[in-house]
Amino acid sequence: MVPFLDLKTQYAAIREEVEAAVSRVLESQQFILGPEVEGLEKELGAYCGCEHAIGVASGTDALLVALMAIGIGPGDEVITSAYSFFASAGSIWRLGARPVFVDIDPVTYNLNADLIEGAITERTKAIMPVHLYGQTAAMDPILAAAAKRNLPVIEDAAQAIGARYQGRPAGSIGDLGCFSFFPSKNLGAAGDGGMVTTGDPELADRVRLLHNHGFRPKYYNKVVGGNFRLDELQAAVLRVKLRYLPGWTEKRRANAATYRDLFRSSTVGNRLSTVSLPAEAEGCYHVYHQFVIRARGHSATGPGHRSGARDNLAGYLRENDIGCEVYYPVPLHLQECFASLGYREGDFPEAERAANETLALPVYPELRRSQIAEVVETTGQFWALADFSS
Ligand SMILES: *Cc1c(COP(=O)(O)O)cnc(C)c1O
Repeated sequence: MVPFLDLKTQYAAIREEVEAAVSRVLESQQFILGPEVEGLEKELGAYCGCEHAIGVASGTDALLVALMAIGIGPGDEVITSAYSFFASAGSIWRLGARPVFVDIDPVTYNLNADLIEGAITERTKAIMPVHLYGQTAAMDPILAAAAKRNLPVIEDAAQAIGARYQGRPAGSIGDLGCFSFFPSKNLGAAGDGGMVTTGDPELADRVRLLHNHGFRPKYYNKVVGGNFRLDELQAAVLRVKLRYLPGWTEKRRANAATYRDLFRSSTVGNRLSTVSLPAEAEGCYHVYHQFVIRARGHSATGPGHRSGARDNLAGYLRENDIGCEVYYPVPLHLQECFASLGYREGDFPEAERAANETLALPVYPELRRSQIAEVVETTGQFWALADFSS
């Protein structure tokens, strides 16, 4: 039995510290915009190499307020990846702007920077790469494409806290970085939370203004903002967990290395044409928010029943009490809510293939070597039983 995620084991290791932090906030009865949020902003800004960090209520709010800060509105276009969590595109749409999708690189699953130029129009106002699964997108070519048109770059770093690109921390590379503290993220709150990072004092000021209704001073509204605030209880918990994050990240990386070793020496090692393991791009420090494998082709696990190898593998793993998840089964351009954008199946073949072929295996820091071995062995059994065609 290998759960997909095991937050209880993590909590058991830090219970006293978390409880003390929570109780400190409860005793203070200061829940909004207090010393914990301020402390976390400083500490997280330092961790991410950003002068400014502003706590917000979720990763989704981080994206929304970052887009608001650069003035995205009706009629604008924002270029982003066709393959991500919904919020990347949803935040653009909610401001009346149009998400303009580009296809992904099939190895890193991140936005293919070569396709940006072709997607730029006079209405393009920003580029939003996503650092999917914990690895940064190819930021140098993205920044180069953006610089040609003077376009701001917003990094969706929700899955990539602590990741680095050529030594630069995720969230510090573009104009703005957006983080999520959803409980299952590498740094997870006891609920929802997020952060916007930037090195630009004017953008920081704008985000800070917008994240609290546009008050300046209170009850005098300079602009229309919202309540996008992070609260003190979440910040206090996050400050405890942030201290453990570098160690947890190293464990995730070690788990990924163990997977690679065990997969290569297992029967799956002979199948590396039908199954591929995640790859680390040159100069990228991957933080393995997810360890995502790709299972190509079709398979039959019983007579007369053929379907996508990925779905059959996922079913087999679950039958054997091994947690796994599909991130994400439908690429953004094919989501029903975006039908009016006019995209069709076939528009972004790599995003579509990834949606059909990828499967995330457990990789959380508390995972034991014996559990990784169990996942690899069970995956190998599936490959031995399944009858393949591609
Ligand atoms: C989790 C996530 C978000 C949204 O974060 P929430 O805190 O859940 O609102 C945005 N983008 C990506 C890529 C994510 O993985």
